[in-house]
Amino acid sequence: MTEQRSACAAGMHIVLLGAPGAGKGTQAAYLKAEWGLEHISTGDILRAEVRAASDLGQETQGYMERGELVPDDLIIRMMEDRLRSLGAGTGYILDGFPRTVAQAEALDAMLARIDHPLHAVINLEVPDAELIRRLSGRRVCPQCNAVYHVDTMRPKQDGICDRCGAALIQRKDDQPEAIANRLEVYKAQTQPLIAYYQQRDKLVTIDGTIGVPQVAVEIHRVLCGGA
Ligand code: AMP
Repeated sequence: MTEQRSACAAGMHIVLLGAPGAGKGTQAAYLKAEWGLEHISTGDILRAEVRAASDLGQETQGYMERGELVPDDLIIRMMEDRLRSLGAGTGYILDGFPRTVAQAEALDAMLARIDHPLHAVINLEVPDAELIRRLSGRRVCPQCNAVYHVDTMRPKQDGICDRCGAALIQRKDDQPEAIANRLEVYKAQTQPLIAYYQQRDKLVTIDGTIGVPQVAVEIHRVLCGGA
């Protein structure tokens, strides 16, 4: 990537929208590496709370394992704390938040209070059959959150994270029943955000099936203009 590209999105506030398995985490990792944006994944934060057996983790574990959404008030409070802790001028990517209209309204109110406008909401579109293929073959590193796939993104050594050497796991919510539930929850509760952000002129939809590097190029084009 060129110097110009590297600088253009630093400091931006971006929401990645899309169904589970659409590639939000993968693209957020690219954006973080490219522009030094903070990657704020509500799923990763909640899984760390569960691992630490904190009050929040104990309260949210059941919802997560069933593929249901954690109640809005818990998530909104958690994100208020997280966003307030960021230094002025810090750019970030929100991955997995907001997921309901109530969360989006709360985010708008928070950002208005701290004067951090959202620059763009990028919606990654992927058909259900492909989402199910991706989620059911997904393996993750519980230590550094790196993501693999049993067919298309295998680690160098079977079952071991390339980045940190930890043993890979399958998330409980990547089992078939929870996947079906998550896709239903997405359609009922998160998909309405597409219209929400369209009405506010923030939404850009990208085809999430064109390949990881190509999606990253499209995101660059959207945020920075040009090819
Ligand atoms: P993810 O890693 O983004 O797929 O999130 C995993 C799980 O964490 C979800 O299925 C929910 O149970 C919970 N979760 C993550 N983000 C949110 C959110 N914004 N609102 C409610 N629940 C969430």
